[in-house]
Amino acid sequence: MKEQFQLIATAAAGLEAVVGKEIRNMGMECQVENGRVRFQGTVDTIIQTNLWLRSADRIKIVVGSFPAKTFEQLFQGVFALDWENYLPLGAKFPISKAKCVKSTLHNEPSVQAISKKAVVKKLQKVYARPEGVPLIENGPEFKIEISILKDQATVLIDTTGSSLFKRGYRTEKGGAPIKENMAAAILLLSNWFPDKPLIDPTCGSGTFCIEAAMIGLNIAPGLQRHFSFEDWNWIPNDKITKARQEARAAIRQDVTLDIAGSDIDARLIDIARQNAEQAGVDDQISFKQMRLQDLRTEKINGVIVSNPPYGERLLDDEAIAKLYREMGETFAPLKTWSKFILTSDELFEERYGALADKKRKLYNGTLKVDLYQYFGQRVRRQVDK
Ligand code: SAH
Repeated sequence: MKEQFQLIATAAAGLEAVVGKEIRNMGMECQVENGRVRFQGTVDTIIQTNLWLRSADRIKIVVGSFPAKTFEQLFQGVFALDWENYLPLGAKFPISKAKCVKSTLHNEPSVQAISKKAVVKKLQKVYARPEGVPLIENGPEFKIEISILKDQATVLIDTTGSSLFKRGYRTEKGGAPIKENMAAAILLLSNWFPDKPLIDPTCGSGTFCIEAAMIGLNIAPGLQRHFSFEDWNWIPNDKITKARQEARAAIRQDVTLDIAGSDIDARLIDIARQNAEQAGVDDQISFKQMRLQDLRTEKINGVIVSNPPYGERLLDDEAIAKLYREMGETFAPLKTWSKFILTSDELFEERYGALADKKRKLYNGTLKVDLYQYFGQRVRRQVDK
């Protein structure tokens, strides 16, 4: 069995640094690149990062990297990799993705087909199977990906399966949900800490509130889901069971959070409650049906996080302009509160009525959005002497 792996965590554009910070907080060194963070580790690292990273998309193993200008080089390069350390006899190994960028080889289906042939031939050799007979692929699945960038091929195996944003708690989505890993990343980027009040006044299916509660209670985001690596023979089941047990034991029982979600749509509030219950955090969040225009609070030093409707899909432009203006008027009195608002509307600040202290470009799927950040004025609580 291999001891050390080259690994990458993939991340949405704009969130790489957040993923990098999470990996460093787990005690590892890493390199942040476009769309990915590179790090190294063992089988335990593969288990832990899948289970614990809140903002990443997937964890992949780098099987190898080599120059490939011709199909012959590609074939030989893939053939030379140590497949016997990953794929047992019987493994299913689709070349699930091939991507060529700025390279001589650009026909992706051919890259896929050649790579498949090379892996098949290697396995036939190492498992002493006759070359004419196709390999039976009825075992666990190893999804292989090939990317060729500037004539350099990189071969990866995905350890995760369906993206890490799928935590397993959201059964109902509502209209336009934000991805769980994006919501978590925004919370990690924000100045919210579990001892501060948090409000999402356009909470929809409750994603921000639920992710915040999971951060506050130290609930591993992957605790309720399955990962591809769990089916692999060289990742011992007892290690996986132990990691899950430790994660369960690490859930904080001693904290009380102050998290509130509201939405104009009562149907979504029901969905948010169901999702929070699924996630095991329903007793930490108060959800209610309310228009954001009616938001009032006496509390101080809190954080508002909101992903309001933006254009076309949900509301027409005039309605958006009005909603953002009213949002600005409603939030303005909350001077000690910080506000983090995610929208694709480039006129947001003008409509809201205040320039953001900081803006950060992110992608919600393929849609370019900005996170408008307004920092609250810090005030000290009155202390009676
Ligand atoms: N982040 C949410 C999705 C938000 S979509 C999630 O992950 O599910 C925007 C939400 O704003 C919708 O749920 C919509 O019902 C709500 N909304 C629209 N106008 C509103 C208003 N005036 N007050 C409160 N909520 C509103």
